Amino acid sequence: MEKILVSACLIGRRVRFDGRAKTVEDEILDRWRAERRLVVHCPEVAGGLPVPRPPAEIEAASGATAVLTGNARIRTPQGADVTTFFLAGAHAALDTARQHGVRIAILKESSPSCGVHRVYDGSFTGATTSGPGVTARLLLDNGIAVFTESELPEAVAHLQALEASPEQNGL
Ligand code: SF4
Repeated sequence: MEKILVSACLIGRRVRFDGRAKTVEDEILDRWRAERRLVVHCPEVAGGLPVPRPPAEIEAASGATAVLTGNARIRTPQGADVTTFFLAGAHAALDTARQHGVRIAILKESSPSCGVHRVYDGSFTGATTSGPGVTARLLLDNGIAVFTESELPEAVAHLQALEASPEQNGL
């Protein structure tokens, strides 16, 4: 059975920077939980950051790839460089995904770690820019499909395609 990596804050874990969760109530997640598919993970906590913690954003005009290759930083509003924690968390997420044979992840949109299509733009104004967070980028680069919490039907379709594939069925 395909396992699915999911951002911990989406299923009620109080791991966000502000000590809160961002729980999504959805029958798809409920079904996957009942099927014991979910692999729950918070990259930032796994990377060594505490709860609560200061917010952090990828430097303006940089992308997750630049962070992963050492060419951009992730900072708090006070300018503290927290990049190493985010990189450690991204690699921990990939390690966890590999341990469970994960090929699909559901990640919290706009996070500097988990954002799929958008991330906050480094201005700490609430504005976002296109591009994934560092964990999402690393998972994508390693062949794992990532979906946001708003794309659960698309994730279901992808899951069905994976489970119908000859590779999955050992044919
Ligand atoms: Fe949620 Fe991801 Fe942020 Fe952890 S790193 S709180 S899982 S969005």
